[in-house]
Order: sequence, then structure tokens, then C-alpha cells
Amino acid sequence: MRRPLRSHPFDIHEDGDRLREECGVYGVIGVADAAQFVALGLHALQHRGQEAGGIVSYDPETGFNSARRFGYVRDNFTSADVMATLPGTLAIGHVRYSTAGSKGHTAIRDVQPFFGEFSAGGAAIAHNGNITNADALRRELIDRGSIFQSSSDSECIIHLMARSLQRSVPERMKDALRRVEGAFSIVAMTRTKLIGVRDPLGVRPLVLGRLGPEKGGGWVLSSETCALDIVGAEFLREVEPGEMVVIEDGQLTSDRPFRPQPPRFCIFEHVYFSRPDSILGGRSVYETRRQIGVELAREAPAVADLVCPVPDSGTPAAIGFAHESGIPFGMGIIRNQYVGRTFIEPTEQIRNMGVRLKLNINRALVRGKRIVLVDDSVVRGTTSRKIKEMLIDAGAAEVHFRIASPPTAWPCFYGVDTPQREKLLAATMSEEEMRAHLGVDSLRFITLDGLYRAVGEAKGRDPKAPRYCDACFSGEYPVAPSDMIEKGFQLKAAE
Ligand code: SF4
Repeated sequence: MRRPLRSHPFDIHEDGDRLREECGVYGVIGVADAAQFVALGLHALQHRGQEAGGIVSYDPETGFNSARRFGYVRDNFTSADVMATLPGTLAIGHVRYSTAGSKGHTAIRDVQPFFGEFSAGGAAIAHNGNITNADALRRELIDRGSIFQSSSDSECIIHLMARSLQRSVPERMKDALRRVEGAFSIVAMTRTKLIGVRDPLGVRPLVLGRLGPEKGGGWVLSSETCALDIVGAEFLREVEPGEMVVIEDGQLTSDRPFRPQPPRFCIFEHVYFSRPDSILGGRSVYETRRQIGVELAREAPAVADLVCPVPDSGTPAAIGFAHESGIPFGMGIIRNQYVGRTFIEPTEQIRNMGVRLKLNINRALVRGKRIVLVDDSVVRGTTSRKIKEMLIDAGAAEVHFRIASPPTAWPCFYGVDTPQREKLLAATMSEEEMRAHLGVDSLRFITLDGLYRAVGEAKGRDPKAPRYCDACFSGEYPVAPSDMIEKGFQLKAAE
């Protein structure tokens, strides 16, 4: 389902001018008050979704309990009253960004985790990713009598599990997921088991961690390693593409229920979605982003006096660019960390101030200088244009825009919110047309080869067997987006 876009106060980009990760998932087993750990983990994953969050826990006396709320984790899952309703040593949680309701607002029924009661017992699931054949599955399931509670693609998994003839919940889940196409990193739970599973391509991340004996030796599943650090869990390893792990009574078992395929992890997680203090594929995200800046400086040098990031996400690449080029680094743009949702929403007049509410130019630093402005991506370009105008108004002599990702010319169908293709600047304009549109003195993007080198592929991208999903840059989708094709989406013509 295509979803409307909204900006959020964590980011300086304007409505629709961003690709947006839609979800983060987390689960804990084997500690007292597991939901407290999940709340902390979700707080660390808040960058993956700010609109709503939910936690389900299991306690033998009270059974399954759940709390689902709109807004930030810190505003909802720190209250003693809420947390007292989530007892038990096993809990999972989810944060979401996307808006699946018809008017562009998340309905509480779309907030995960989802829960199902099966003959094999109850189970809850939290899903990060997107099911690309969800429309077809939903039609089939409704025809066969399923009654859907939400408009989320993820609910298909619960209904497919309900129809499975397998006895145990993990076996039912395998049955269900073999019917599903697209991207899924799932954390699920039964009364006694914590389950983690990743699609065969491993498009979205999922990691496994362990708490020390002083914390009961429990196990943790998380979208990112930064959310292991917050609870003091040790990072053990990634859940591998196509792997299902089941943790019960302190023991982990691993299974490979899907046909093996070469992995295609989302390369944009390295560029922007994941937190810079996370580890992906054995590499520090911060270091990868710095290296992207190094590659960018080699591919697209500029004659300039100062390298400035668009904060915060452009900062590591700008540091790398400055280091490689020898041009001084400076914070020419200062971000107000305290812009909040309540301040942004009340009046049209305030909303129209847009970027100025969130960013200010460090005039004394930029005046009279030729600036290399580094950002992680360009989607619609509305924010970039305004930042350039603000820099020139503040006295900058020239603005040379350098982008730490290739032109984003295709939508993502694997769990990232993107505008329709025709709204993407790079889908309708050449690089020179984009430069003129943004009004900058020069514009260059890192190449796909350069990006692959920065993530550790010394020879760049292998066009016959690329090791990452890069469809939003290349138009080569590793899983055909069948629902969208049915609705008329045109795939890239074969070359
Ligand atoms: S299309 Fe882009 S954002 Fe989506 S999974 Fe692939 S690389 Fe990531």
C-alpha cells in the first residue's frame, strides 16, 4: 500500500522530502520485567518510527498483555501505570512511522505488535519490512473467510498462520512466511518462546544479543545494535538472511526454512536509516558514512573554503569529505534540537516557516566562503533549495552540493516510505536540471560503484550479482513488487 508522507521533528527535511524507514522491532526473554527492557530498546530505535509504538508481554498469571500508543516511547512507556500492565519475563515491541489509514493518520488498530490466538496457543508478532504481495494475499484470505482488523500488510501473516495445519507456532509461522514475498525482519513471541526471523534476502536488519548473568542472562532481538547497548546486552551476531531463531528455556535453536538466495541487504541502511552508532554487516555505520564522504571527495572534488554538513545525517560524510579533500570542516548550519511536534503543528503560519524552525545558518562562519554542502540524499529537493537560499542570504559566496547517495530515482517497496516515482526529483530531471532547479553552483552524487566501495566492496558494484538491494537507485528490484505491478507500476526496461 502506498502511504502518505509526513515529516517529523527529529528531521529537518520537509514533508515528503525524505525516504523514511517505517519500523523498528525488539524482543526480550529471560529477565524480570522484560517490557521495561523492550521500552528502552524501542527508545533507542525511535529513529525508525515515531508515530506509534506497542509492547506485548506474557505473564503466566495474567496471560498476554498489550499496550499500544501514539507518539514517542518516552511519552508512553515510561509511566509506572502503563508498565505495570505489562508484567512478565517475555515481551516484544514495535515502533512505526508509516500512516496506513485512509486520511494519512495511523489508526490504533494498525499499531503493532499484532496478536493472534491459535489452536497451538497465542502469539504476537512485530514486523519490519513490507509484504509486496499483501494485496493479493489479503483478497485470497478474505475470500476464504478471514476478517481483517487492520489495514496493515503485516496482518496477513497472522491470518496465514491461523490457516496453517502445522501444530506449533514456529511451524505455522514458517508456513505463513513461505507464502509471503518482500522484506520481513520479524520478532514474535508465544507464551514461552521468543522468535526472530529474516526474509531470505535479509533486506532489513535484525540482530541477536545477550544480557549478562547479573541481568539474568536473557536474550534480546533488535533491529539494530544501538538498542542492545542501551540495555547493556552484548551483541552476539546478526540473525542471518533466511534464518529463524527460537529461544526457549535459555536455549537458542536455529533453522533455515526458506529456499536459499544470495543476500540483498538494503544499502540505504548504511547511508541513512540506521543509527551511526550501530554495526551493520560487521561495519560501523558511522565509519561507512565517513568513508562515503571520502569516496565522494575522490569522485566529485570541489574548489571551496569550507565543508558543511546538513545536520545531523550528513555529518559523518562531510567529515570524510573534508578529511579527503583537505578543505576545513565546519558546522555552517546549526540544528535546533528542541523543535517538538506540539510546536510545529498548531498554526499554518508556523508550519510555513518550515526549515527555519529547525535550522539556522552560522553566519560568521559561512560569510564570503565557498561552501561544500553535504547531505545524505535528495528526494524532492524542497529542503535542499531552502538551505541553499539560507546560505546565500547569510553571505556564502558559492554552494557546491555533494550527495552521499546516488540519485534516488525509484520508490522503495520493502518497508521504506517513498513518494511516487514522478515526485522523485531524480526520476524526472537530469543532474544538470537538478542543479539548476536547486540553484546551486555545482551538484554531484556519489556513484553506485563509489557507494559499494564505501561499504567494503573493493571492486564496486557487480552488475550481474549486486550484493545489496539498491533498487531505489538502480531500479533493479530483487523481489518483483507484484501488487504495485498489478496497479500499473512500470519496472525499468531491460537494457
Ligand atoms: S529500494 Fe532502496 S531503501 Fe528500499 S530496501 Fe532497496 S536500497 Fe533499501
